[in-house]
Amino acid sequence: MIIVPENEIADLIDRKASFDAVESVFAAMARKDAYNFPVIREAIGYADALYGFKSGFDKAGLVLGLKSGGYWPGNMEKGLTNHQSTVILFDPDTGKVKALVGGNLLTALRTAAASSVSIKYLAPKGAKVLGMIGAGHQSAFQMRAAAEQCDFEKVIGWNYHPEGLPRLEKVANEIGLPFEPVELDQLGEQADVIITITSSFDPILMDAQVKGGTHIACMGTDTKGKQEVEAALVSRASVFTDEIAQAITIGECQHAIANGTLKQSNITELGYVINGDHKGRTSNDEITLFDGTGVGLQDLAVASTAVDLAIEKGVAIEVDF
Ligand code: NAD
Repeated sequence: MIIVPENEIADLIDRKASFDAVESVFAAMARKDAYNFPVIREAIGYADALYGFKSGFDKAGLVLGLKSGGYWPGNMEKGLTNHQSTVILFDPDTGKVKALVGGNLLTALRTAAASSVSIKYLAPKGAKVLGMIGAGHQSAFQMRAAAEQCDFEKVIGWNYHPEGLPRLEKVANEIGLPFEPVELDQLGEQADVIITITSSFDPILMDAQVKGGTHIACMGTDTKGKQEVEAALVSRASVFTDEIAQAITIGECQHAIANGTLKQSNITELGYVINGDHKGRTSNDEITLFDGTGVGLQDLAVASTAVDLAIEKGVAIEVDF
């Protein structure tokens, strides 16, 4: 068995490798070569923790495994990250454990890669302004990955906790872009690409605030009850997702599905666009919305890449197991 510890990940896998892994597994999902197993997520009644696992099998890439982890709100006081995750990969031919991989940084990389893939395929041509809603841990990864897909000229941003905005400014400046904090009306009016990455349980961005000719990547909603944009905005948009089953239950689509304004048949998995089986955006005035719920296969794809790179670079720790 190979072990790739959390502290090795940053030196092994970069944004490009994460992007390629996620793009490829989304394509495999749409070809029905890869599928996710049902997600388990439980409040364990101890340490206020939410624990669960996401798993799946990619028959094309021969990647089988699971990501186990969750959210421990008391971790900050212990100097640990609140979100904790570990990926375990198995040999699909024998069922033997193949690798144990630190999953914290990988989660941020694969989540940013997902919205970045959606921007590559769905952003309006000539997108110049990136709008960020959310300024937490994930936002920095999201912004950096998005900036690789379009020639943005500036970043504008809004956060529920305004004291978080300097993080967005710092990252924007590091990638050579000016940053301006704005109100949501301005954000919806000016941004060509919008990323929402918050832990909100109420809609933040309203339908009337978005002008059109916009791509919105909704990345924060990954649990029943969470919501970042008004359901009417989802219904108005051409809707894409990583996986329909998750979108309608734990993703941003859950609300428009529940109020009957969005039909499941009107949601397209992004893999179909990647494979050329769906046209994606059809006009520059359209609103496209990617509901990025976060699937287990994304975790397995980046973990498998990290293992391959660890072997290639001679830093894989091998344990007889
Ligand atoms: P974080 O705790 O670092 O940041 C949370 C963000 O949400 C901050 O910008 C904060 O100001 C904002 N926020 C908090 N309460 C809010 C409220 N009531 N209304 C509006 N905004 C509010 O978290 P993070 O690690 O950046 O993760 C952000 C979200 O992304 C979380 O909901 C997390 O579960 C989700 N996430 C999704 C995926 C995926 O694959 N889709 C992967 C990882 C994380």
